[in-house]
Amino acid sequence: MKNIELSKALDYIDRIHEIVLQKYDTQPKALVRTFGCQQNVSDSEYIKGMLEKMGYVLTEEVDKADFILYNTCAVREHAEDRAFGNIGALKAYKEKNPDLIIAMCGCMVSQPAAAEKIKNSYPYVSLAFGTNMLERFPEMLYKFMRNRKRVIDISGAAAAGDIVEGLPRHRDSSLKAWLPIMYGCNNFCTYCVVPLVRGRERSRDYKSVVAEAEELVASGAKDITLLGQNVNSYGKGNSDGVYFPELLRMINDIKGDFRIRFMTSHPKDCSDELLKAMSECSKVARHLHLPFQSGSDRILKAMNRHYTSSDYLTLVEKARSLMPDISLTSDIIVGFPGEEYEDFLKTVDIIKKVRFSMLFTFIYSKRNNTPAAKMEDKISEAEKGRWFDELLHEQEIISDEIMSGFIGKELRVLCEGVKPKTNLLYGRAGNNMSVTFSGGEECTSKFVNVKITDFNHTVLKGEPIN
Ligand code: SAH
Ligand code: SF4
Repeated sequence: MKNIELSKALDYIDRIHEIVLQKYDTQPKALVRTFGCQQNVSDSEYIKGMLEKMGYVLTEEVDKADFILYNTCAVREHAEDRAFGNIGALKAYKEKNPDLIIAMCGCMVSQPAAAEKIKNSYPYVSLAFGTNMLERFPEMLYKFMRNRKRVIDISGAAAAGDIVEGLPRHRDSSLKAWLPIMYGCNNFCTYCVVPLVRGRERSRDYKSVVAEAEELVASGAKDITLLGQNVNSYGKGNSDGVYFPELLRMINDIKGDFRIRFMTSHPKDCSDELLKAMSECSKVARHLHLPFQSGSDRILKAMNRHYTSSDYLTLVEKARSLMPDISLTSDIIVGFPGEEYEDFLKTVDIIKKVRFSMLFTFIYSKRNNTPAAKMEDKISEAEKGRWFDELLHEQEIISDEIMSGFIGKELRVLCEGVKPKTNLLYGRAGNNMSVTFSGGEECTSKFVNVKITDFNHTVLKGEPIN
């Protein structure tokens, strides 16, 4: 079944290639723009890979493109507004070049109301498809090219979807790679649209994941991020008994000097085995992104998160006792329906107790068809904004203290390149901190030991050692 899907996709890619060769004198250009999380970035790499095989060359210049695709996000309202704003701006390009093909995909498109809006209000969008149906993109594009009839299909969105292995992929970076290990989410946090747009949780076969990791390392990747909405429940639907800690160990056993990262972890599934595996695997980065969302047990319950603030603090303690140098980061939602100032203060209390090196803070955004959308929300946006600022202020103090604590210390940094304006090298340490340092371009793509001498906001500065 899955192999049939793959060969069908490859067959349509070939057919499009023929059309492209006949239609264009020079290689046509395709622009793929990605919004939202790393899962989308990873999906876009497949789309780009397929486009290249169809005969397109990738471009970043919107006015030169013959094909434009926006891969959208739906996690907050702002992301949706931006997607519609951006796609609205393409109308002028379509008027100038009627042959331009405009496509949309991703989480926003996967919501029936948004698909309907595209259908009715954005007639120049020729192709729209949901998540979990990347392998059907070539077929849809082919049909549009042949019949010139718009194709709007989001049938994959809520469905479990098969995992089709082997689709072509264009890697944005040969140094830092995204490696999806699972798709979808079964957690149904009450505020979140992801389970509605990405469907049920399913894990890739561990053999495919390990084989892909081996290929990545062989082709020079030095920083591999395992992706999933809740990587800690990897393998639950598979029958081979390989869960996330085992998978980490298998990838850690691959020969070579590289780093393994993963995201995102849900605290309810962050097991002792996982922390133990992390601490015993030398290639696993000493960084854990563990979103706690709220410090109030009442709000955590309303969010359907299945842990308490004290469970969370216990996890942090366990992680730190096994890996004293681990850096922790988190996601937080301010202003969930029913949240009072006292609840908010409990969130601030957690950030003071844990001392995260970085926080991703969001003001609650109402998402259609989620349970939280029906909950009473009495606090004004202005008030939520004040709480938000208060939280940011507390975190700034903590971040500054953490950053200054690095001065004099040594970090192993993967050098990603040279910053054009300052001529400084930049990269990330294992703990995910950004570091700039002096040195020659030949350091690019290499691990460099750097002694930290200073910092500026969230970026550490240093000097290479030898
Ligand atoms: N699966 C991951 C990430 C999901 S989305 C996880 O569970 O950690 C990334 C972050 O966006 C979430 O952690 C949450 O903090 C935030 N988020 C999700 N839905 C939101 C909403 N409706 N309003 C505000 N923030 C939201
Ligand atoms: Fe959304 Fe919760 Fe699933 Fe994360 S775990 S994607 S926040 S439902």
